This record gives sequence, C-alpha cells and structure tokens, in this order.
Amino acid sequence: MSSIPSIDLPADLIPADGRFGSGPSKVRTETLLELGVTGSSFMGTSHRQPGVKSVVGAIRSGMKDLFSLPEGYEVVLGVGGATSFWASAAFGLIEKKSQHLDFGVFSGKFAKVVNGAPHLDEPEVIKADAGSYAPPVPNSEVDLYGLTHNETTTGVMAPIVRPDAAGIVAVDATSAAGGMAVDPEQFDVYYFSPQKVFGADGGLWVALVSPAGAERIEKIASTERWIPGFLSLKLALDNSRKDQTTNTPALATLFLVRSQLDAMLELGGLDWALDRCARSAEIVYGWAEASEVAYPFVSDPELRSTNVATINFADEVDAGTIAAVLRDNGIVDTGGYRALGQNQLRLAMFPNVEPADLATLTKAIDYIVERI
Ligand SMILES: *Cc1c(COP(=O)(O)O)cnc(C)c1O
Repeated sequence: MSSIPSIDLPADLIPADGRFGSGPSKVRTETLLELGVTGSSFMGTSHRQPGVKSVVGAIRSGMKDLFSLPEGYEVVLGVGGATSFWASAAFGLIEKKSQHLDFGVFSGKFAKVVNGAPHLDEPEVIKADAGSYAPPVPNSEVDLYGLTHNETTTGVMAPIVRPDAAGIVAVDATSAAGGMAVDPEQFDVYYFSPQKVFGADGGLWVALVSPAGAERIEKIASTERWIPGFLSLKLALDNSRKDQTTNTPALATLFLVRSQLDAMLELGGLDWALDRCARSAEIVYGWAEASEVAYPFVSDPELRSTNVATINFADEVDAGTIAAVLRDNGIVDTGGYRALGQNQLRLAMFPNVEPADLATLTKAIDYIVERI
C-alpha cells in the first residue's frame, strides 16, 4: 500500500466526536461519567446482591418498554455476546433443522456453527450476494428460521417477517435492535450484543423471547440432549427471571446498557432512535448519491441500512487511504469490512452518533478526496 498522504483537516471539518465505528461503537461520555460517579458502590460488588440485580432488572423492564413487548414476552441476558448465543441456539433452540439467510459474514456465521453440530441435521442455507438479500422460504422440515435484521458487514437491512410456516423465528439483531423498527409478533427470539446500537460494551447478549421461544427452550432442555451449562438457554432463562446471569457478567457492561437505555427512553424511545437514524441515513446516502466518486454499495434503496452505511468509491479513489487520513485526524473506524474486499467506507449511524457529525464527516471526506 502507498504511504498515507499528510492532510490536516481544517477545524470546521472535524466532527465533535470522531467515533464512527460499527462496533464497538460510540459510547456516550455522560454514560461513562455516570459509571465513574458510582465510585465504590457498584463496580467490585457481588452480582448476586440487590445493587447489581437491580441493574439487570432495570435492563429487563427497560427493554420491554423500548420494544413495546406484548404480554408474555421476556428479556433474557447471558454472558458471551451474539457469537456465544449462536452456540447456545445450536444446543438449546433448534430441534433438528434450521434455515439460515446468508447475505454477509455475520448472517453466515450462525449457519456455520449449526453445520458442525452432530445432534442437528444439516441446515438449509439461502445465500444472497453481498449487498443484496433473499427472503426465507417456508419448509415443513425446518423448526427454526435464522434471520438477521441488519447485516453489519454489508450495510443491508432485511425485513423481519415471519415466514408462513411452523418453525420459530430467531433474529440476530446485533446492529439493529434499538435503531430499527420491528414488530415483536414477527419473531420468537430477537437477540443482540450491546456494543453496537446500544453504545455499551461487548461480552453480553440480550434476547427478547416470545412465549413460543421460551416454550422451545423448555422443551429441548427436557430432552436427553447434552448441553454445556454455560451455553444452556434454560439456565439463562431461569437466572434472568431472578435478574441474574448464569455466570459472572461484566458489571460495567450492564451499567452502560442500563444508562444508555434510560437515555433512549427519556429522549423518546424507539421512535426517537428511528428518527435519528433515518435523518443520518438521509445525510449519508444523499451525499453519496450526489457525489461524483462515491455511491451507496447497496443498490436497492429499500435494503440500505439506516444504521450502518456502506459507501463505495470509484477505482481511482482508494477508500483505505481516506480511512487512514481520517484516522490521522482523530476520526476513527470508518474503514470497510476487510473480508468483503470492497473499495468502501463503512459508517455507523447508530442513535448515539450525531447526524451533524455525519454531515461534517461527509464534507471531510470530500476535502480528502480532492487532495489525494
Ligand atoms: C457484531 C455482530 C455479531 C457478533 O457480535 P459479538 O458480540 O462479537 O459476538 C453478530 N451479528 C451481527 C449482526 C453483528 O453485527
């Protein structure tokens, strides 16, 4: 790679906050300060005592509010993030055969986990090219449909619609939950890690579970199938009902999630978040469409993510160089997802990101493009 040109952005082209990464994403400074202020009263105290349990309880009830969950839906927490949830699902959510929509690196990963499970049939995988999407296909042999609400690696957002079939619907909502509209009637499990839209930290998974989802967990747990305790959804469910997790959670992560959730609810909940993300998406895609060298990677406007924008550049402009110059100026994590192999920038438009900062960023990119 050629050396990075030395370009100093003028002060008015530097966003107030330079974090545009898709995960870990921008954490509110207010939230970090709030954690610091707890001093000796929270960090370093037992997760089995009211101090921490009340935070888990607040997350569980806050999520119910944010997503307007119907009666009977529950919020379950576990240690390990979305990646760990895939392993848990292979043990405790799929009875025999699953169907997966594979339209990018993350959506493909769940299928890969399942593919190696000796107690399950080979999963059915419906593949679509990066930047596009293909819907689930009802299949009477399938007992779980694995959907992904937002494919973080490609910037494609998918419709979440229950297929006209008997299986349960499990949605990886890691970079969607809290920044995209969803109808809880369309899913049985909607799971996510909180270091993306929720601007918290990793190592935790949160799952919104319908009564049918909980029933599936109970049903499989009552069979002879061997399930490692750490990955048991039944243990996670039972512990969550007591505002606990199976093993020790990262207390700071719990705190950050609760603080972010409080802030979102105070500002107007999901409607507020959707409005912010839509405004940001208008700014970023509008700029790319008007640009002579940049264009949205996702050609179908309906599929363009309102949470993560992928922007390609004409061959003569190297996106990697733009990202490197931005980084030299304190604007970080704008590079595309490596494995995708596109000449691309990827910009998070999560609710914590200021639309005005994205507007400034687009001007900074134009400034850099003119000089490289
Ligand atoms: C980031 C991400 C994951 C992986 O999350 P971890 O917390 O690292 O396990 C899974 N799915 C999607 C859609 C993601 O964006």
